Formats: sequence, C-alpha cells, structure tokens
Amino acid sequence: MGLRAAPGEGAAMLPARSFADQVVLVTGGGTGLGKAMAIEFARLGAAVVIASRNPGHRAAGEAAMAAAGGRGLSVAVDVRDPDAVAAAFDRAEEALGPVDVLINNAAGNFPVLAERMSPGAWRAVTDIVLDGTFFCSTEFARRAIAAGRGGAILNIGATYSWTGGPTTAHSAAAKAAITNLTKSLAVEWAPHDIRVNCLAPGLFPHDDLPDGLRRGRAPEADARSVPAGRVGLPHELGWAATYLCSSYAAYLTGHTLVLDGGNWLRRGLRMPPFVSGEEQLAAP
Ligand code: NAP
Repeated sequence: MGLRAAPGEGAAMLPARSFADQVVLVTGGGTGLGKAMAIEFARLGAAVVIASRNPGHRAAGEAAMAAAGGRGLSVAVDVRDPDAVAAAFDRAEEALGPVDVLINNAAGNFPVLAERMSPGAWRAVTDIVLDGTFFCSTEFARRAIAAGRGGAILNIGATYSWTGGPTTAHSAAAKAAITNLTKSLAVEWAPHDIRVNCLAPGLFPHDDLPDGLRRGRAPEADARSVPAGRVGLPHELGWAATYLCSSYAAYLTGHTLVLDGGNWLRRGLRMPPFVSGEEQLAAP
C-alpha cells in the first residue's frame, strides 16, 4: 500500500544535455544526497564542481560522476569560511568557467537534547547550514551580478523548518532560517536573473548517513512511517533539483518544494503515543 514507485535511477526526466555548457557547484557533493544531485546534473551534461572538506568524500564524488559519464572536478572548501568559499569559486572558474548553478547542500547534524547542547555544538551546525549557505550564495551572486550573467541557487532545506525538530534544534532552526533566506534572496536577485529556491527532502536514507542519524532503524520501519509507504530514493531528489535549476523553472523563484511522500503533513490531534526526546535518544 502506498504511492507508486518512481522510475529507476538513470531514467531521464529532462531532455538530454539540458545543462550542457553550464557549471554546477554542489557543496557537500561527495556524499549522500549531494552526490546523487551531482550525478543527475552531470548526466544532463553539466560540468560539476564538488566542494567539501574531506578529500575522501571529494574523491568518492568524482568517481561517482565519472561512472555516470559526467565531467567536472572537486575543490576543497569549508563553507563556514568566506575566504575559502571565494577561493573555491576562483578555482572552479579557472578550470571550468563561471558557476551557473549553486547547490547549497552541505550540512552537519547530530541528535542532542537542547539543554545538553554546548555552544560549540550549536555553532557547528548553524555555521555550516546558515552561514555557509549565506556565504556561498553571496559569493555566487556578487560574481553573477558583476558579469550580468544570472543563474540559479538551490538551498537544501528540511521539513522541520515548519514543525521544529526536537533533539535536533540546531539543525531545525538553521533550516528554518534558510527557508526564509530563500525568499529574501529570491526577491533581491530576481532583477539580476538569479533564481533562488529551496528543496526540502523527507526521509532519504543512504549509505553515507552518520551512525547518529540512523538510530538503528530498520528500513521497513522507515517505510511504514511515511504515508507514501516508502522512503525517498536519492535519485528522485536529483530529478527535483535539476528541474528547479533548469530553464523549465524559469518563472519559479522563492519557493520551497517538499519531497517527502506526504510525511510532514500527517500530524493531527490524535497521534501515536508521545515519545520524549530523552526516550528517543536512549532507545537502541
Ligand atoms: P551527508 O551525507 O552527511 O552530507 C553532508 C555533506 O556536507 C558532506 O558531503 C560533507 O562533506 C558536507 N559538509 C559538511 N560540513 C561542511 C563544511 N563545513 N564545508 C563544506 N562541506 C561540508 O548528508 P545528506 O543526508 O546527504 O544530506 C544532504 C542534505 O540534505 C543536507 O542539507 C541535509 O540537511 C538534507 N536533508 C537530508 C535528509 C536525509 O534524509 N538524508 C533529510 C532532510 C534533509 P565533507 O565532510 O567532505 O565536508
């Protein structure tokens, strides 16, 4: 029971070469969902820049792109550092040309009760998600505006922007902020032909997820918890991301698209028994 299955990985949604001659920079594009989105852009002809800190992650992203027949490179960057962000854009530009599409995907997250969260833990997550998104977006826009070039930015959000995220208050607050930032920047930069949208994934398990976020959940239990009757597949996110950044979405800006099988809408007055954050984190 549930929603029908999507086509398999590798099925084309947009016309072949929709991103030919475009440079797409994906922060955190060497793992998980960032890698899945990087692969879909590469399949559609983009030159993809994978930007992240860990050389092993970057190498994995480059290998995945090459396996999909794509082209591109990776650059080292910590998105919390504006100078490093500028240097990463320089590097991408020298090698491939100006960046046309920016995917703000990099994030950090780990479950912790708010009263036990240290200032460092709070900043570790909010600096990557909110500050990193702002630094990369403004670096992208300054260059695009100066060159009169335009482009598209896609922020990767989360549905706890609207519900709150008990046990991940740092991430939920930062994601809510980037949902809001999406709207401000969309209006500011529309006159410069820069579109800014946000994509909020639901439950998309993948092999690169850190242990703390897996919480020992069986895949069947994950599937049963979503109205669709299944979890999301990373390549489905790739289709959504490429559509939102393509010329087919030329009139779409300031929008957050939720891709979650109806999951965040299922709250009601009668819910399964409440489980406190403390109990959740104590569970095996
Ligand atoms: P992931 O595999 O943990 O990916 C996070 C990426 O961010 C890593 O590649 C990491 O690369 C990069 N990163 C972290 N800190 C960075 C920094 N300071 N500078 C540059 N890069 C940094 O997580 P994911 O599940 O694929 O998540 C991707 C996006 O989807 C995130 O925005 C996440 O919040 C969102 N999301 C995921 C789910 C889900 O079910 N998976 C649900 C809702 C939202 P390095 O370590 O190499 O820097």
